[in-house]
Amino acid sequence: MKHPLRPLVVAGNWKMYKTVEEAANYFKVFEPWVRSSRLFIYLAVPFISIKTMADMAKDSAIVIGAQNMNDAEEGAFTGEVSGRMLKDAGARFVILGHSERRRLFHEDNSFINRKIQRALSDGLQPILCIGETKNEREQGLTEEVLRRQIHAGLAGLDRMHAARLIVAYEPVWAIGSMSAATPEMTCEAHRFCREGLNELFGDEAERIPILYGGSVKPDNAQELIAQPNVDGFLVGTASLSAESFAKIVHLSENRSFNPSAVSP
Ligand code: PEP
Repeated sequence: MKHPLRPLVVAGNWKMYKTVEEAANYFKVFEPWVRSSRLFIYLAVPFISIKTMADMAKDSAIVIGAQNMNDAEEGAFTGEVSGRMLKDAGARFVILGHSERRRLFHEDNSFINRKIQRALSDGLQPILCIGETKNEREQGLTEEVLRRQIHAGLAGLDRMHAARLIVAYEPVWAIGSMSAATPEMTCEAHRFCREGLNELFGDEAERIPILYGGSVKPDNAQELIAQPNVDGFLVGTASLSAESFAKIVHLSENRSFNPSAVSP
């Protein structure tokens, strides 16, 4: 039994994979496998698949969202997508501050903070991603980095926003690698995150799920979800296969998975 105020969330991040047709085919296979799940199942898909996926997911327990958005309401920003457009297409949440955005597209904490504020005012639930690099961990800076990213990323929000936020702790060195953080590392880092959130939101911080992300697979999901501060997962690579993502969903609620059995 996890914390009574917090939902358990298992979110997939497809990154830049799958055409619209491939996305729709995935959904048809995946949805029956997770139909009876009590978890919140999120899928962050490429922009162009949001509308199709959101229409398909309408009567299901699967929540469709985006992987990024711009901080402006609208304007001359070639190639960008606004929160309002995402919402209109059927997205209900948006991943912000993913380490690939920070590293490859030079997004800093203040830009991410503006996006978080915009997402909330556009009615989207933000998933703020934070995490230390290998170098920062080796220098003993993990706690400092996580607190800084939480305080800067969520600056200006008040307690009433807490119930609408999700934080994903994703150690940069564990993303897309062969090795996830150990359960002990995860437990400690999630405690740092929870303390940072408490400093900002007091008791209301208890409502914010903290997900773990970084090489979550069917073979490590169970020991990671068993950590007391882990409220679910953000899954990249393993969410690209409907079967391995369904397995992670089942393992996260302590059920075994049989691909030939379809949930009623
Ligand atoms: C991610 O991209 O958020 C992620 C956690 O990727 P992976 O599961 O592949 O490490």
